[in-house]
Amino acid sequence: MTAPLIDPFARAITYLRVSVTDRCDFRCVYCMAENMTFLPKKELLTLEELDRMCTTFVGLGVEKLRITGGEPLVRKGIMTFFNAMTRHLESGALKELTVTTNGSQLARFADDLAAAGVRRINVSLDTLDEDKFAAITRWGRLPQVLNGIDAAQKAGLRIKINAVALKGFNEDELPRITEWCAERGMDLTWIEVMPMGDIGNENRLGQYWSLKDVRAQYQAQYSVTDLAERTGGPARYVRLEETGQKIGFITPLSHNFCESCNRVRLTCTGELYMCLGQEDMADLRAPLRAWPEDDRPLQEAIRAAISLKPKGHDFDYSRQRLDGQMPRHMSHTGG
Ligand code: SAM
Ligand code: SF4
Repeated sequence: MTAPLIDPFARAITYLRVSVTDRCDFRCVYCMAENMTFLPKKELLTLEELDRMCTTFVGLGVEKLRITGGEPLVRKGIMTFFNAMTRHLESGALKELTVTTNGSQLARFADDLAAAGVRRINVSLDTLDEDKFAAITRWGRLPQVLNGIDAAQKAGLRIKINAVALKGFNEDELPRITEWCAERGMDLTWIEVMPMGDIGNENRLGQYWSLKDVRAQYQAQYSVTDLAERTGGPARYVRLEETGQKIGFITPLSHNFCESCNRVRLTCTGELYMCLGQEDMADLRAPLRAWPEDDRPLQEAIRAAISLKPKGHDFDYSRQRLDGQMPRHMSHTGG
């Protein structure tokens, strides 16, 4: 049962992204409606169940865990879970434990995360302007996030900033955000916005800003070198020679790089999504709860799910998504 997870297209599945909550202390306009209905607590995997689930995946060869959400650091008791994962880092089975966060709780948790063995984190930040930050996140406050980033750097965590590219919103901030990241020794990745159908976004702040255009802006202002680096995901990287910085570009539903896809996503209710762009999922909570003392049914369910991992998402399918038909929130599958 401990043979590694290999999908039908010979891809080894070594990367699990785990959403630990659907809740958040922000309401970013491209991600959530202002009045969200969240899942009842009993639907969520408990911290112990999250531990058992992740431990099972690690036992099957997963080497990288990214904890996300919702906002992972608002999940009550979440440090218990991080601390529990430390044993897998110490055993060498897990190579990386990391988190994607909005940064609001980092001042509280940066030291604890570092102590748990987290080395690098992603912080989502779309603007350095306080008013614009309040507008795009609705409930977020920029100084709190900047304090969190300070605390994380003090704790020795490496930070990558993720910025959603929004036309007419942060287009003009590209040089400022880039240089701010460079000064602080942080890498930066731009994410193409995916329009979502059901988040009450009539008065959308900012619109689709193609990463081709973002790249063109860089090329106009800096000497840009393409990097061969691949992480098995949809990100592509360049280096800015002037600052030495690495800049990434992520098209969430890009279907060009599926052949190297090494990841699957677990929702906070224990559904496993094999592909961000397909609806297929497997319920892992059922075997987890039905056999509390025996991990084999869960392992079998994981293997069965991986054997259904699609080759990729097809063009028409992603076209449909880009027309605003994305039925799942990013906060559900974990962005
Ligand atoms: N709350 C955490 C955060 O904001 O980093 C983690 C979860 S959030 C869903 C993960 C990432 O998804 C964030 O970087 C966010 O900007 C991105 N995201 C959310 N909605 C998106 C959308 N409609 N299009 C593109 N990226 C989106
Ligand atoms: Fe919360 Fe992250 Fe979604 Fe913003 S992008 S609402 S911070 S989950």
